[in-house]
Amino acid sequence: MISLQDSVTSLKGIGTQRLKLLEQIQISTLEDLIYYLPRNYEDWSQVTKIKDIIIGEKQTIEGIVSTTPQNIRKGKLIITKCKIEDSTGSIWAVWYGQPYLKNYFKPGESYVFTGKINRYYGSIQLISSEYEKIDMNEKNKNIGILPIYTLPQKLSQKLFRSWIQQSFENVGTNLQEFLPLWIRQQYELADIAYSIYHIHFPKDKEHFLTARKRLVFEEFFLLQMGLLQIKQGIDKKTKGIQYKPKKDVEYFIKSLPYSLTSAQEKVVKEIQKDMFLPYTMNRLVQGDVGSGKTVVAAITLLLAVKNGYQGSMMAPTEVLARQHYETLRMFLEPFNIKCGLLVGSLTKKQKENINEKLKNHRIDVVIGTHALIQDSISFANLGLVITDEQHRFGVRQRMTLTQKGKSPDVLVMTATPIPRTLALILYGDLDISIIDELPPGRQQIKTYAVPSSYRNRIYHFIKEEINKGRQIYMICPMVEESETLELQSVIEYTSHLQNEIFTNYKIAYLHGKMKAKEKHDIMEQFSQGIIQILVSTTVIEVGVNVPNATIMVIENAERFGLSQLHQLRGRVGRGKYQSYCILISDAKNKIALERMKVMTETTDGFKISEMDLKLRGPGDFFGTKQHGLPDLKIANIYEDMAVLKQAQEAVLTLLQKDPFLQHEEHYFLNQKINALFQNTDEVLAL
Ligand code: ADP
Ligand code: MG
Repeated sequence: MISLQDSVTSLKGIGTQRLKLLEQIQISTLEDLIYYLPRNYEDWSQVTKIKDIIIGEKQTIEGIVSTTPQNIRKGKLIITKCKIEDSTGSIWAVWYGQPYLKNYFKPGESYVFTGKINRYYGSIQLISSEYEKIDMNEKNKNIGILPIYTLPQKLSQKLFRSWIQQSFENVGTNLQEFLPLWIRQQYELADIAYSIYHIHFPKDKEHFLTARKRLVFEEFFLLQMGLLQIKQGIDKKTKGIQYKPKKDVEYFIKSLPYSLTSAQEKVVKEIQKDMFLPYTMNRLVQGDVGSGKTVVAAITLLLAVKNGYQGSMMAPTEVLARQHYETLRMFLEPFNIKCGLLVGSLTKKQKENINEKLKNHRIDVVIGTHALIQDSISFANLGLVITDEQHRFGVRQRMTLTQKGKSPDVLVMTATPIPRTLALILYGDLDISIIDELPPGRQQIKTYAVPSSYRNRIYHFIKEEINKGRQIYMICPMVEESETLELQSVIEYTSHLQNEIFTNYKIAYLHGKMKAKEKHDIMEQFSQGIIQILVSTTVIEVGVNVPNATIMVIENAERFGLSQLHQLRGRVGRGKYQSYCILISDAKNKIALERMKVMTETTDGFKISEMDLKLRGPGDFFGTKQHGLPDLKIANIYEDMAVLKQAQEAVLTLLQKDPFLQHEEHYFLNQKINALFQNTDEVLAL
């Protein structure tokens, strides 16, 4: 008996070599194979008569092979040719480098061909078509809508399809249903075996849609079930600190050199409302880049400290932590609040010193990186935990910091604007506040997308800005997804600029491999205006604030996603000067052009993230690198919003019925979720 867990080598035609190819796409068992979903389909049911074919298009033809196939040698290449006829005409079919086809096609037999039609020296040819023999006795299974998979070069679609077929014949009936019947009935979902089969080989559009709906539902459903399990234990209504209003908060707000935007005011109110209640606060503050989240953090810290507690703020990088430290010190020290910095690059002695002061409450507010969550660090009276740009942290890390106090309040800040529906899934455990307004007087950042032939004009423009006293960011071209190459690229690019273009200006570079201290020194010199042009890989993406910088040049802009471009652009336009973002790209593909267009047309982070969702394929949104969530293989968060809501509803109903999935009818579901999420909670960063 063959089982789903058996190796694919139990199929006919798969030996060690093909196994290696399959392993490249993470397929080693029959189950993996069956779950490897098509990326697209080809409709072979739309047959075109030879007299009606269109040159230059891909077409499907049904006909008889009317000449004996011939192999013709052209240099090293062998070309196989034969004539195909139907009732309306004939055409030559041509294949390159597949000499064995000569013996495959038998004159007088019928086949279906799908391929591109070309004109070649006056004769019309069908090029490198895929083909299938028509079996007159049994109307073919394989002619209709055919799946297309993302495969390594050496694997043909045809072969791969046949393996999937074989797997179904062998183990298709072993697929274990794990969605409870009541859910499938309520939301009219097909069963697992049906859905998986018809997602590979849909008889028609209806079968396809039925199959797809179930699989989309399944993905959303599992994702949310898993997230909720991870979030268990973060109970919203746990007893916490009940803070009292403090006059100093009003004084502080009055003492600011600007007045708060009404969005900032609204969010501050929401935070205070939470803090005045006897429960712990778990709140997410979403605000676009430059919307002024730091001052909101300062106000929150002030309130906590004036109530006699300590506060901490964790940032994802040392550069950011140091920057926050400077800013918060400036804000808080006039109110007699002692601030401390705790980052990895401090000496052991310095760290011990800070730790000592945290224990004795001689520091009120500590700002730092991951260094904050080390076991050795402890507080006298931690009452507030803030994490900034938190998509870099894991839930686990946030909780570790939380556990250093007795039910402290938690504030999470993010500059990644995401549509509300999505936020509700990803941050299910948090209440959400949105700063949906930028401080007044900000000039719109002018954004241009240009080809690299504009380079000289760009350099000229940069010099003009520097001569006015402004500063420039340049994001260097990315060669490959390799750190060593990236490093090389940033160094070469910088020396080229320094030696040949900007000989009289001060240039420096930053990259991910630099020591925190080095990075900090460079950033420091940049913020003091000593460095005029800062060349960087994307390490400056998050949070840095240098209001005097007015131009952001992004080389190879097509390599970046929309949200990333938006974050990068957010580094300029932070002061009173008109700022510019210049996207250099020679890419001509549709998605790249669309991205450039969106960037030049809007600076609204929410709009951009919505477009980002639209332009990305399914799955992309949860790039596993970032948070270790299982990828969405088929669902598209944007287009399948309706199903997403159903899945959300189903999760809630299920958890009311059987919160710990103990009922027998939920046994397989429980297993499935555990398998999917077994390793994620360590890396999961929400
Ligand atoms: P982000 O939300 O990206 O963290 P910051 O807190 O760094 O934004 O603020 C960006 C800039 O806007 C800072 O220079 C800050 O001083 C300024 N800023 C913040 N709030 C206001 C406001 N209400 N009016 C004017 N400027 C403000
Ligand atoms: Mg910030």
